[in-house]
Parts: sequence; structure tokens; C-alpha cells
Amino acid sequence: MNDQPRPTGRVGQGPTVVIPVTSETPSTEARPAAMSLQLTDIVLTYPDGERTLTALDQVSMTARAGELTAVVGPSGSGKSSLLAVAATLIAPSSGRVMLAGQDLTGLSKAEAAKVRLTHIGIVFQQSNLLPSLTAVEQVQVLAHVAGRAPARSRAQAVELLESVGLTGAVLARRPHQLSGGERQRVNIARALVNSPDVLLVDEPTSSLDTERGQAVLDLLSRITRERSVATVMVTHNPEHLAGADQIVRIVDGRIEAEKPLLSNIA
Ligand code: ADP
Ligand code: MG
Repeated sequence: MNDQPRPTGRVGQGPTVVIPVTSETPSTEARPAAMSLQLTDIVLTYPDGERTLTALDQVSMTARAGELTAVVGPSGSGKSSLLAVAATLIAPSSGRVMLAGQDLTGLSKAEAAKVRLTHIGIVFQQSNLLPSLTAVEQVQVLAHVAGRAPARSRAQAVELLESVGLTGAVLARRPHQLSGGERQRVNIARALVNSPDVLLVDEPTSSLDTERGQAVLDLLSRITRERSVATVMVTHNPEHLAGADQIVRIVDGRIEAEKPLLSNIA
């Protein structure tokens, strides 16, 4: 999804970002409820030969801190497009993306990249681990890019991998030596390097069997609560909705319903 062309949008015309940059040390304290991600009336069109294809049609949704939002819909319904817009990787044709009350839709590419680095963790559908790096190095590289000193970046990588259930000899394995579930955990650990406010995860269980898929879902649910992150998880599998606080159904680029689960209403 990150190599999709950018449709014409309003990038570059907006105000400077004033969202506070997160501190180096991951915080497990609850974030204010205002740290939510809000999409309003998002329209996204792709060029499609002579015509345009409307991938997202007036999509509005809110992902709140400490809640797991599941976006479910059939293949081709616009789920990955929705995540790309939420991630500021694609500028929508119209509509707004707000994070903690700040409008991200008018940002320049550089500003959007900064917001991604400091506030948004992304787990793409296609795992993009580097083949030659060990599990710990995959995470360490990102910590290093984020400005940590080498010793600190390694320590942080080990901590993060432990927090997603990877320890011991696994840390020294390269992607081809890891199981699908372990690779996905490394992807998730990488996305947490900058203590994001928002975690966007595309089809996290698509390559896993039921048991390992469920373990990854449980992990995402735990991370969401422990880190008070606003998690948006895309899936086409209705069986994956049990742990969600909110379910958003999307069909042909349109939201069918956005509702809290009855079981979660106290
Ligand atoms: P999902 O993730 O639910 O399978 P996508 O967001 O990938 O759906 O795609 C939604 C629709 O947009 C599909 O019809 C798809 O073919 C189309 N689409 C996705 N990406 C592009 C692109 N870069 N250019 C043109 N059409 C695209
Ligand atoms: Mg997709």
C-alpha cells in the first residue's frame, strides 16, 4: 500500500504540526482521550483508465486511545486504502484526518513523515522485514533511526521484543528462520519503537493458522490497553472481531455501521 500513487490532495497547504513529540521512553500511562484518530467524510479516488475509482466514499470513523477498532469488509472494499489515508501515506481527495484535534490532511510530505515517525505505528499487510537482519536488529535499526544511541537502541529493541513475547534465541534469528507468527510479532515490535498514539495494522493474521492468529489478536488487544494506543486493525475475517471494542464495516468504500459492541457496554 505504501507504493500507491498519491492522488491529488491538499498536501502542503496546511498549518505546521503542533502535536507534541513523544518522549524517548515508552509511556504506559493512559493518554488523554483526546489522543484519538478521527476521519471525517473521507473520499479517496484512484485514476482508473478514463474514469476514476472511488475507493473511499464519505468515510467517517473515530479510533480512540486504549480501544481496538476492527475494520472489517470483503476484499477490495477499501480497507487498506482507509489505513493508508489514516497513516497519512495517501492524501484523501477530500475529507479530514485529525489526530488529537490536529488536522493532518494539509501537511507537507515532510510534516506528514514526522507525524508518522512520532505518532503512528504501521504494520503493513506484506511483512517488510529486512532479510539479512536478526529479529533484534530489525527493531534496533528503527530505534537508531529515531535517534537512540546504539546501546540504548539495542536495549529498547530487546525490551520491545520481550513485550510481544519474543525472547532468547529467537532474537538472533533472521526472517527466514522465524515462523509467520514470530515475524508478525517482530513487525508489531517495530511499529512500537516510537511509542505511537495510533497503531494501524493491516490483516495481521492473513498468513497465520487459527491458533497463531488468535495469539496475535490477543497481543494487539493487550498492547492497545497497556499502552493506551488507538489501534485500528483491518481484517476480512469476521471471526477476528471478538476482542474488538468497536467494529467498523466497510463495503464498496462505504461504512455500513460503526457501533460499540453490546458486550462492552458496562
Ligand atoms: P481492501 O484492502 O479492502 O482489499 P483496497 O483498499 O486495497 O481494498 O482497494 C480498494 C479498491 O481500490 C479496489 O477496487 C482496488 O482495486 C482499488 N485500488 C487500490 N489501490 C489502488 C491503486 N493504487 N490504484 C488504483 N486502484 C486501486
Ligand atoms: Mg487490503
